[in-house]
Amino acid sequence: MLRSCLLILSLIITSCSAPADIRDSRFIMGTLVEFTVTGMDEATATTAISEAANEMQRIEDLFTIYGDHDNSIKQFNRSEIGVPLLLPDEVSKLLNSSLEIKKKSNGAYDPALGKLNMLWGFSQPDSPSLPPGKQEIEAAIPPLHCIEKTEAGWIRSDERCVLDFGAIAKGYAIDRGIETLKQHGIHNAIINAGGDIRLIGRHGDRPWRIGIRHPRNKGEVIKSLELEGDVAVVTSGDYERFYIYGGARYHHILNPESGMPATEVQSSTVMAESAMLADAWSTALFILGNQSPAVIDGINIKSLIIDYKGEIIINTL
Ligand code: ADP
Ligand code: MG
Repeated sequence: MLRSCLLILSLIITSCSAPADIRDSRFIMGTLVEFTVTGMDEATATTAISEAANEMQRIEDLFTIYGDHDNSIKQFNRSEIGVPLLLPDEVSKLLNSSLEIKKKSNGAYDPALGKLNMLWGFSQPDSPSLPPGKQEIEAAIPPLHCIEKTEAGWIRSDERCVLDFGAIAKGYAIDRGIETLKQHGIHNAIINAGGDIRLIGRHGDRPWRIGIRHPRNKGEVIKSLELEGDVAVVTSGDYERFYIYGGARYHHILNPESGMPATEVQSSTVMAESAMLADAWSTALFILGNQSPAVIDGINIKSLIIDYKGEIIINTL
Protein backbone atom coordinates (compact mmCIF):
# COMPACT_ATOMS: atom_id res chain seq x y z
CA MET A 1 0.00 0.00 0.00
CA LEU A 2 2.72 2.40 1.08
CA ARG A 3 4.76 1.47 -2.02
CA SER A 4 1.89 2.16 -4.42
CA CYS A 5 1.16 5.49 -2.71
CA LEU A 6 4.78 6.48 -3.07
CA LEU A 7 4.69 5.45 -6.72
CA ILE A 8 1.58 7.56 -7.40
CA LEU A 9 3.15 10.49 -5.56
CA SER A 10 6.34 10.22 -7.58
CA LEU A 11 4.34 10.09 -10.85
CA ILE A 12 2.45 13.23 -9.86
CA ILE A 13 5.68 15.03 -9.00
CA THR A 14 7.25 13.94 -12.30
CA SER A 15 4.31 15.15 -14.36
CA CYS A 16 4.11 18.44 -12.43
CA SER A 17 7.79 19.16 -12.96
CA ALA A 18 7.71 18.17 -16.67
CA PRO A 19 8.69 21.38 -18.50
CA ALA A 20 5.81 23.07 -20.30
CA ASP A 21 5.93 25.16 -23.48
CA ILE A 22 7.71 28.45 -23.12
CA ARG A 23 6.41 30.94 -25.64
CA ASP A 24 7.15 34.47 -26.67
CA SER A 25 6.58 36.62 -29.74
CA ARG A 26 8.18 39.64 -31.33
CA PHE A 27 7.30 41.80 -34.35
CA ILE A 28 10.16 41.32 -36.86
CA MET A 29 10.28 41.66 -40.67
CA GLY A 30 6.76 43.01 -40.81
CA THR A 31 5.25 39.98 -39.13
CA LEU A 32 4.56 38.51 -35.70
CA VAL A 33 7.25 35.92 -35.03
CA GLU A 34 6.23 33.29 -32.48
CA PHE A 35 8.79 31.22 -30.59
CA THR A 36 7.88 28.03 -28.74
CA VAL A 37 10.47 26.07 -26.78
CA THR A 38 9.76 22.86 -24.95
CA GLY A 39 11.75 20.49 -22.74
CA MET A 40 13.88 23.24 -21.25
CA ASP A 41 13.85 25.22 -18.01
CA GLU A 42 12.14 28.57 -18.21
CA ALA A 43 15.16 30.79 -17.52
CA THR A 44 17.29 29.17 -20.26
CA ALA A 45 14.42 29.15 -22.74
CA THR A 46 13.50 32.79 -22.08
CA THR A 47 17.09 33.97 -22.56
CA ALA A 48 17.49 31.84 -25.69
CA ILE A 49 14.27 33.16 -27.24
CA SER A 50 15.25 36.74 -26.55
CA GLU A 51 18.65 36.23 -28.20
CA ALA A 52 17.07 34.39 -31.15
CA ALA A 53 14.72 37.34 -31.64
CA ASN A 54 17.65 39.78 -31.48
CA GLU A 55 19.51 37.71 -34.07
CA MET A 56 16.49 37.77 -36.39
CA GLN A 57 16.25 41.54 -35.96
CA ARG A 58 19.95 41.78 -36.89
CA ILE A 59 19.19 39.88 -40.12
CA GLU A 60 16.32 42.23 -40.92
CA ASP A 61 18.61 45.24 -40.46
CA LEU A 62 21.34 43.62 -42.57
CA PHE A 63 19.10 42.84 -45.55
CA THR A 64 16.20 45.27 -45.62
CA ILE A 65 16.00 47.79 -48.44
CA TYR A 66 13.33 49.79 -46.60
CA GLY A 67 13.49 52.23 -43.68
CA ASP A 68 16.11 54.85 -42.72
CA HIS A 69 18.76 52.47 -41.46
CA ASP A 70 21.64 52.19 -44.00
CA ASN A 71 23.19 48.84 -44.86
CA SER A 72 25.43 47.24 -47.49
CA ILE A 73 22.50 46.17 -49.70
CA LYS A 74 21.30 49.76 -49.95
CA GLN A 75 24.88 50.82 -50.70
CA PHE A 76 25.09 48.24 -53.48
CA ASN A 77 21.75 49.41 -54.86
CA ARG A 78 23.06 52.95 -55.23
CA SER A 79 26.56 51.91 -56.30
CA GLU A 80 27.84 53.20 -59.63
CA ILE A 81 27.36 50.89 -62.61
CA GLY A 82 30.47 48.81 -63.22
CA VAL A 83 32.18 49.82 -59.95
CA PRO A 84 32.82 46.86 -57.61
CA LEU A 85 31.64 46.93 -54.00
CA LEU A 86 32.77 44.53 -51.30
CA LEU A 87 29.85 43.12 -49.34
CA PRO A 88 30.09 41.61 -45.84
CA ASP A 89 30.70 37.82 -45.97
CA GLU A 90 27.24 36.98 -44.68
CA VAL A 91 25.57 39.14 -47.33
CA SER A 92 27.85 37.82 -50.05
CA LYS A 93 26.99 34.24 -49.04
CA LEU A 94 23.22 34.80 -49.17
CA LEU A 95 23.62 36.59 -52.49
CA ASN A 96 25.52 33.58 -53.87
CA SER A 97 22.77 31.23 -52.66
CA SER A 98 20.14 33.54 -54.16
CA LEU A 99 21.83 33.59 -57.56
CA GLU A 100 22.11 29.80 -57.48
CA ILE A 101 18.37 29.47 -56.80
CA LYS A 102 17.68 32.01 -59.54
CA LYS A 103 19.60 29.80 -61.98
CA LYS A 104 18.00 26.55 -60.83
CA SER A 105 14.50 28.07 -60.95
CA ASN A 106 15.00 29.33 -64.52
CA GLY A 107 14.83 32.90 -63.25
CA ALA A 108 11.45 32.53 -61.50
CA TYR A 109 13.09 33.57 -58.23
CA ASP A 110 15.20 36.66 -58.85
CA PRO A 111 16.94 38.65 -56.08
CA ALA A 112 17.44 41.65 -58.41
CA LEU A 113 13.80 42.75 -58.66
CA GLY A 114 14.11 45.60 -56.17
CA LYS A 115 13.20 48.33 -58.63
CA LEU A 116 10.12 46.45 -59.78
CA ASN A 117 9.07 45.61 -56.21
CA MET A 118 9.45 49.26 -55.17
CA LEU A 119 7.36 50.33 -58.16
CA TRP A 120 4.51 47.99 -57.20
CA GLY A 121 4.96 49.23 -53.64
CA PHE A 122 3.57 46.29 -51.66
CA SER A 123 6.27 46.61 -48.99
CA GLN A 124 5.95 50.38 -48.60
CA PRO A 125 4.20 51.78 -45.51
CA ASP A 126 1.32 53.15 -47.61
CA SER A 127 -0.23 50.18 -49.37
CA PRO A 128 -0.93 50.82 -53.05
CA SER A 129 -4.37 50.45 -54.59
CA LEU A 130 -3.57 51.05 -58.28
CA PRO A 131 -1.25 49.08 -60.59
CA PRO A 132 1.61 51.07 -62.17
CA GLY A 133 1.60 51.86 -65.91
CA LYS A 134 2.85 49.40 -68.53
CA GLN A 135 5.83 51.55 -69.52
CA GLU A 136 6.92 52.05 -65.93
CA ILE A 137 6.76 48.29 -65.39
CA GLU A 138 8.81 47.54 -68.48
CA ALA A 139 11.41 50.13 -67.46
CA ALA A 140 11.82 48.46 -64.04
CA ILE A 141 12.48 44.89 -65.24
CA PRO A 142 16.22 44.13 -64.93
CA PRO A 143 18.20 42.32 -67.63
CA LEU A 144 18.56 38.60 -66.93
CA HIS A 145 22.19 38.77 -65.80
CA CYS A 146 23.07 42.04 -64.17
CA ILE A 147 25.09 41.11 -61.08
CA GLU A 148 28.61 39.83 -61.16
CA LYS A 149 31.15 38.79 -58.56
CA THR A 150 34.77 39.83 -59.12
CA GLU A 151 37.92 39.75 -57.00
CA ALA A 152 37.32 43.41 -56.20
CA GLY A 153 33.69 42.93 -55.14
CA TRP A 154 30.16 42.75 -56.51
CA ILE A 155 29.27 44.72 -59.63
CA ARG A 156 25.91 45.72 -61.00
CA SER A 157 25.84 46.24 -64.74
CA ASP A 158 22.55 48.10 -65.05
CA GLU A 159 20.53 50.78 -63.24
CA ARG A 160 17.52 48.44 -63.12
CA CYS A 161 19.55 45.96 -61.12
CA VAL A 162 18.41 46.51 -57.52
CA LEU A 163 18.79 43.81 -54.88
CA ASP A 164 15.77 42.80 -52.80
CA PHE A 165 16.01 39.81 -50.48
CA GLY A 166 12.29 39.99 -49.62
CA ALA A 167 11.64 36.41 -50.74
CA ILE A 168 14.56 34.80 -48.89
CA ALA A 169 15.65 36.93 -45.91
CA LYS A 170 12.77 35.90 -43.65
CA GLY A 171 13.67 32.25 -44.19
CA TYR A 172 17.33 32.97 -43.51
CA ALA A 173 16.38 34.89 -40.35
CA ILE A 174 14.33 31.91 -39.13
CA ASP A 175 17.37 29.66 -39.70
CA ARG A 176 19.55 32.04 -37.69
CA GLY A 177 16.89 32.11 -34.93
CA ILE A 178 16.90 28.28 -34.76
CA GLU A 179 20.70 28.26 -34.76
CA THR A 180 20.70 30.66 -31.80
CA LEU A 181 18.27 28.44 -29.87
CA LYS A 182 20.48 25.41 -30.58
CA GLN A 183 23.52 27.31 -29.28
CA HIS A 184 21.64 27.63 -25.97
CA GLY A 185 21.23 23.86 -25.76
CA ILE A 186 17.64 23.82 -26.99
CA HIS A 187 16.67 20.69 -28.92
CA ASN A 188 12.89 21.11 -29.19
CA ALA A 189 11.48 24.34 -30.60
CA ILE A 190 9.47 25.94 -33.34
CA ILE A 191 9.74 29.41 -34.87
CA ASN A 192 6.66 30.55 -36.73
CA ALA A 193 7.01 33.81 -38.66
CA GLY A 194 3.49 34.36 -40.00
CA GLY A 195 3.16 30.79 -41.27
CA ASP A 196 6.82 30.43 -42.32
CA ILE A 197 8.15 27.77 -40.01
CA ARG A 198 11.20 25.84 -38.94
CA LEU A 199 11.03 23.28 -36.18
CA ILE A 200 13.49 21.08 -34.33
CA GLY A 201 12.94 18.01 -32.17
CA ARG A 202 9.51 17.12 -30.87
CA HIS A 203 6.67 18.71 -28.94
CA GLY A 204 6.93 16.74 -25.70
CA ASP A 205 6.14 13.11 -26.51
CA ARG A 206 4.61 13.99 -29.91
CA PRO A 207 5.72 15.46 -33.22
CA TRP A 208 5.08 19.16 -33.80
CA ARG A 209 1.75 19.80 -35.50
CA ILE A 210 1.43 22.58 -38.06
CA GLY A 211 -1.38 23.71 -40.35
CA ILE A 212 -1.15 25.15 -43.86
CA ARG A 213 -3.87 27.70 -44.36
CA HIS A 214 -6.43 27.69 -47.13
CA PRO A 215 -5.53 30.51 -49.56
CA ARG A 216 -9.08 31.84 -49.74
CA ASN A 217 -10.91 30.71 -46.59
CA LYS A 218 -9.25 32.47 -43.68
CA GLY A 219 -9.11 30.26 -40.61
CA GLU A 220 -9.44 27.06 -42.66
CA VAL A 221 -6.54 24.64 -42.71
CA ILE A 222 -6.00 22.96 -46.07
CA LYS A 223 -3.46 20.49 -44.78
CA SER A 224 -2.03 19.66 -41.40
CA LEU A 225 1.33 18.04 -40.91
CA GLU A 226 2.99 16.23 -38.04
CA LEU A 227 6.73 16.82 -38.20
CA GLU A 228 9.79 16.24 -36.09
CA GLY A 229 13.56 16.44 -36.40
CA ASP A 230 14.78 19.51 -38.22
CA VAL A 231 12.67 20.81 -41.06
CA ALA A 232 11.28 24.04 -42.54
CA VAL A 233 7.89 24.71 -44.14
CA VAL A 234 7.26 28.04 -45.88
CA THR A 235 4.26 29.31 -47.83
CA SER A 236 3.99 32.08 -50.41
CA GLY A 237 0.45 33.27 -51.05
CA ASP A 238 -1.47 35.95 -52.92
CA TYR A 239 -3.80 36.64 -49.99
CA GLU A 240 -1.78 38.70 -47.54
CA ARG A 241 -0.51 41.68 -49.48
CA PHE A 242 -2.93 42.39 -52.32
CA TYR A 243 -5.69 44.62 -53.63
CA ILE A 244 -8.45 44.13 -56.15
CA TYR A 245 -8.55 46.58 -59.06
CA GLY A 246 -10.92 46.31 -62.02
CA GLY A 247 -11.97 42.88 -60.76
CA ALA A 248 -8.40 41.51 -60.82
CA ARG A 249 -6.19 40.62 -57.87
CA TYR A 250 -2.81 42.38 -57.67
CA HIS A 251 -0.31 41.04 -55.15
CA HIS A 252 3.36 41.10 -54.17
CA ILE A 253 4.83 38.03 -55.93
CA LEU A 254 5.97 39.14 -59.35
CA ASN A 255 6.73 37.23 -62.51
CA PRO A 256 10.20 38.53 -63.49
CA GLU A 257 9.46 38.11 -67.21
CA SER A 258 6.26 40.13 -67.37
CA GLY A 259 6.88 42.35 -64.33
CA MET A 260 3.30 41.57 -63.28
CA PRO A 261 1.95 39.66 -60.28
CA ALA A 262 2.08 35.92 -61.06
CA THR A 263 -1.36 34.56 -61.83
CA GLU A 264 -1.14 30.76 -61.98
CA VAL A 265 -1.19 30.02 -58.30
CA GLN A 266 -2.95 31.09 -55.07
CA SER A 267 -0.43 29.53 -52.74
CA SER A 268 2.70 27.42 -52.83
CA THR A 269 4.19 25.68 -49.81
CA VAL A 270 7.68 24.23 -49.74
CA MET A 271 9.26 21.88 -47.23
CA ALA A 272 13.07 21.91 -47.15
CA GLU A 273 16.03 21.38 -44.86
CA SER A 274 16.38 25.11 -44.24
CA ALA A 275 13.87 27.96 -44.08
CA MET A 276 16.12 29.93 -46.45
CA LEU A 277 15.67 27.33 -49.20
CA ALA A 278 11.98 26.82 -48.42
CA ASP A 279 11.37 30.60 -48.57
CA ALA A 280 13.10 31.21 -51.91
CA TRP A 281 11.65 28.09 -53.50
CA SER A 282 8.10 28.79 -52.32
CA THR A 283 8.33 32.10 -54.19
CA ALA A 284 9.83 30.40 -57.27
CA LEU A 285 7.14 27.68 -57.36
CA PHE A 286 4.46 30.33 -56.99
CA ILE A 287 5.59 31.65 -60.37
CA LEU A 288 6.36 28.29 -61.95
CA GLY A 289 3.00 26.68 -61.09
CA ASN A 290 2.54 23.44 -62.99
CA GLN A 291 6.06 23.65 -64.44
CA SER A 292 7.39 23.17 -60.90
CA PRO A 293 7.87 19.37 -60.90
CA ALA A 294 10.17 19.49 -63.95
CA VAL A 295 12.19 22.38 -62.53
CA ILE A 296 12.68 20.90 -59.04
CA ASP A 297 13.43 17.39 -60.27
CA GLY A 298 16.59 16.33 -58.41
CA ILE A 299 16.29 19.12 -55.81
CA ASN A 300 15.58 17.97 -52.27
CA ILE A 301 12.32 19.83 -51.58
CA LYS A 302 8.66 18.89 -51.29
CA SER A 303 5.71 21.06 -52.21
CA LEU A 304 2.00 21.75 -52.10
CA ILE A 305 0.70 24.03 -54.84
CA ILE A 306 -2.84 25.37 -55.13
CA ASP A 307 -3.65 26.85 -58.53
CA TYR A 308 -5.72 29.90 -59.48
CA LYS A 309 -8.90 27.78 -59.45
CA GLY A 310 -8.23 26.72 -55.87
CA GLU A 311 -7.29 23.18 -56.86
CA ILE A 312 -4.33 21.33 -55.45
CA ILE A 313 -2.17 20.69 -58.52
CA ILE A 314 0.95 19.36 -56.80
CA ASN A 315 1.20 17.67 -53.45
CA THR A 316 4.31 15.84 -52.37
CA LEU A 317 4.18 16.92 -48.70
P1 ADP B 1 6.21 36.81 -48.07
O1 ADP B 1 7.18 37.91 -47.92
O2 ADP B 1 4.79 37.21 -48.02
O3 ADP B 1 6.54 35.63 -47.21
P2 ADP B 1 7.55 35.76 -50.39
O4 ADP B 1 8.53 35.00 -49.59
O5 ADP B 1 6.98 35.03 -51.57
O6 ADP B 1 6.34 36.29 -49.57
O7 ADP B 1 8.32 37.05 -50.89
C1 ADP B 1 7.70 38.08 -51.62
C2 ADP B 1 8.61 39.27 -51.64
O8 ADP B 1 9.78 38.95 -52.42
C3 ADP B 1 7.99 40.47 -52.30
O9 ADP B 1 7.45 41.34 -51.36
C4 ADP B 1 9.18 41.09 -53.05
O10 ADP B 1 9.93 41.90 -52.15
C5 ADP B 1 10.02 39.91 -53.40
N1 ADP B 1 9.67 39.28 -54.71
C6 ADP B 1 8.53 39.39 -55.45
N2 ADP B 1 8.59 38.62 -56.56
C7 ADP B 1 9.80 37.99 -56.51
C8 ADP B 1 10.47 37.05 -57.37
N3 ADP B 1 9.92 36.62 -58.49
N4 ADP B 1 11.72 36.66 -57.01
C9 ADP B 1 12.30 37.12 -55.88
N5 ADP B 1 11.74 37.98 -55.04
C10 ADP B 1 10.50 38.42 -55.34
MG1 MG C 1 9.70 33.41 -50.24
